Amino acid sequence: MSNALYDALFAPHAKSDAVFLRLTDGDGLSHRSFAEMAARFAGALTADGVKAGDRVAAQVDKCPEALALYAACIQTGAVLVPLNTAYTPSEIDYFVGNAEPRLVVCGQAAAPALSAIAETNGATLRTLNADGSGSLRALADAQASAFDPAPRSTDDLAAILYTSGTTGRSKGAMLTHGNLLSNALTLSDLWRFDAEDVLIHALPIFHTHGLFVAVNTCLVTGASIIFMPRFDVDAIIKAMPDATTMMGVPTFYTRLLDDARLTKDLTKGMRLFVSGSAPLPAETHRAFEARTGHRLLERYGMTETNMNTSNPYDGDRFAGTVGLPLPGVEVRVTDPATGTPLGKGEIGVIEVRGPNVFHGYWRMPDKTAEELRANGFFITGDLGTFDERGYLHIVGRQKDLIISGGFNIYPKEVETALEALPGVDESAVIGVPHPDFGEGVIAIVVPEAGTQAGADDLADALKDKLARFKQPKRIVLVDELPRNAMGKVQKNVLREQFVGLLS
Ligand code: AMP
Repeated sequence: MSNALYDALFAPHAKSDAVFLRLTDGDGLSHRSFAEMAARFAGALTADGVKAGDRVAAQVDKCPEALALYAACIQTGAVLVPLNTAYTPSEIDYFVGNAEPRLVVCGQAAAPALSAIAETNGATLRTLNADGSGSLRALADAQASAFDPAPRSTDDLAAILYTSGTTGRSKGAMLTHGNLLSNALTLSDLWRFDAEDVLIHALPIFHTHGLFVAVNTCLVTGASIIFMPRFDVDAIIKAMPDATTMMGVPTFYTRLLDDARLTKDLTKGMRLFVSGSAPLPAETHRAFEARTGHRLLERYGMTETNMNTSNPYDGDRFAGTVGLPLPGVEVRVTDPATGTPLGKGEIGVIEVRGPNVFHGYWRMPDKTAEELRANGFFITGDLGTFDERGYLHIVGRQKDLIISGGFNIYPKEVETALEALPGVDESAVIGVPHPDFGEGVIAIVVPEAGTQAGADDLADALKDKLARFKQPKRIVLVDELPRNAMGKVQKNVLREQFVGLLS
């Protein structure tokens, strides 16, 4: 039997001497060198006892070796569980306990804190640092440069990506070889990727956007990637003349627009700029076109479904819309109460069905049954509407998700952390417009009567409890929260009241 993803993504270019990864220090790695590195990592996983179906959890910095670890998981049939580098050890504890990986990989700095977590859960701990060094690399260096891929069908798991949890508990979305493959083929075709393309890659690789949308479209076509450790305006401006495409979150584009060096001349060799993971302000879309002559291409997707819709490559790209359903993907808008499909112009919950849709939440059959219908439609929780032209508009998020700089924050998790602090009676966490991040997190807190804790004390107390991107940018103390007749906190009222707090 073949290995669905290896055969499509890695095998075709494994002998090519064309550059695959261009690094910002000027070095480059060919497809062949990358394939050899991946084979050595696959050998290392096998030496550590990892077998097909085992999970490999990785909280690692962005580097070529981290991508090789992804490729090694595909080859060995292991299931990669990438973890946000901002997560604290207490957050990692939950993911490792839930995913039960055979191997945990982290940077040397996190190893003391994570070794106990790995041990408690019966996993081996290996290190992989931002410079590619570490005990996993040392083990890989002792392995052969070729590896016979494990047989894997399209229904076998390739990765588990954790989403933010509405009740503070994240859910592991199970993505198969077939899910990732279908999206890689569809997007590379729709967005016309080929081996001549050079993609600017400044996204993190623990999230679906940077790992699957960006990397897989390049792998499947043999394109090359300018692989940046993080988003940096200077580095992107420097790379632009050598690139043809870029993928980013809206914040990337607003920050580039703040720089006078972004001009038509600078971008004349580019053919495509893609935006997603958060709403792209129509104003940014227009300003980008006015400055560069390029119309940003906005697309819509999520961890559980990969990509669902995209503005067209050749046809009209409308500001404020996320475009048309991808070929082979069904998108419908339904009544949130009844699940009945709604017509054009009506607002409801967006549902998606297709080969891109995940196979459920890891070890959470009840959650899976709540969100994945028996007929295959996934209830996204996003609210949207189709316009007369068939373009989808996203109007809000049913679950009050906050997206700050492309990262998802569920208010409930921050509220739970705040309410566990001494002196806090209750809290409401909301997102308000932020000039740089799209949305910023703020917390409205009712202190317990007679307590002295100030906003700064509460902010300090949250520092080691929550990843930085989840920590409120402002904490406001109030006497009481607005509530409706049913006793529910009216977050819409708070959003209106504090709309300008971060602008
Ligand atoms: P994630 O699972 O982290 O990729 O987050 C998925 C969520 O991001 C979706 O459910 C949407 O709420 C939001 N999202 C992704 N792309 C867009 C977009 N182009 N416009 C508006 N929201 C988006």
